[in-house]
Amino acid sequence: MEIHHTVAQCKLALRDLQQKGQKIGFIPTMGALHQGHLSLVKMAQKSCDIVVVSIYVNPTQFGPNEDFALYPRTLTEDALKLQEVGCNFLFAPSTEEIYYPNEDLYIQMPSLSKRWEGAMRPGHFEGVALVVTKLLGIVRPDKAFFGHKDFQQSVLIRQLARDLFLDCEIITGPTLREADGLAMSSRNRYLSAHERSLAPVIYNTLMHIKKKSVMGAPTEPLQKEAIQLLKAVDEIHVDYFDIVSSKTLEPLQLLDPSQEPVAIVAVKLGTTRLLDNMKIFD
Ligand code: AMP
Repeated sequence: MEIHHTVAQCKLALRDLQQKGQKIGFIPTMGALHQGHLSLVKMAQKSCDIVVVSIYVNPTQFGPNEDFALYPRTLTEDALKLQEVGCNFLFAPSTEEIYYPNEDLYIQMPSLSKRWEGAMRPGHFEGVALVVTKLLGIVRPDKAFFGHKDFQQSVLIRQLARDLFLDCEIITGPTLREADGLAMSSRNRYLSAHERSLAPVIYNTLMHIKKKSVMGAPTEPLQKEAIQLLKAVDEIHVDYFDIVSSKTLEPLQLLDPSQEPVAIVAVKLGTTRLLDNMKIFD
């Protein structure tokens, strides 16, 4: 596996491969890799000649009181995991490589970025949109792979790539889960043993709501029941639980299958924020 830390080296190596007709698949990450990330690598390998992973903890997507400084940085272990699954290329830049000191670029997508996670984490998606645009500009992949786990992010990036004519196909991979249903996340390592034992309530609540869902039914009783189930655990604070349209991220009043409803949830368990979501109809 080639490892590059500078934009110049990364571009040079990739442009050469692209000129030779190699199809590039790209997975942007913040590292602390788990099987969820690696599943996207494996997915990319099926349809691309070269798989590129980036590891970059992007400061502009963290709020002032968030965990930027504490976010796990495990580059050596991550590189080994990528090597093991046959990833071809790791790009791990420093912030000096990604942001110019006098930078003045700002991407706004207010109708997608201001609600849900964007409301809880002001500025988060502006930072995500900016870094993903830069990374796609550096790597220029044919396909980029994102997890359904970060559902709002995947919707936003799909639209960003479309609106900027990036010529990059955006592919969303399924959420990988632990055996008890907890969605894999780099932040799960922050949970104490007790909190970890409580965490499956998120998946169990989503599954319960999915099973109770009937086409055309009102969403409000389902939402209320889900919040009750989550709040029954004292250590959990519910940031939001709602059922939204996959297309617009707007809350749905009724379970209209043409809107491809998705239940989205964010909770704080102790001090750790956990996100999850589930399609209501398969
Ligand atoms: P992150 O390192 O958290 O920025 O995640 C990098 C990519 O991996 C994003 O597209 C995430 O949606 C995706 N991802 C994170 N967790 C999972 C998971 N459990 N299953 C599948 N993909 C995931």
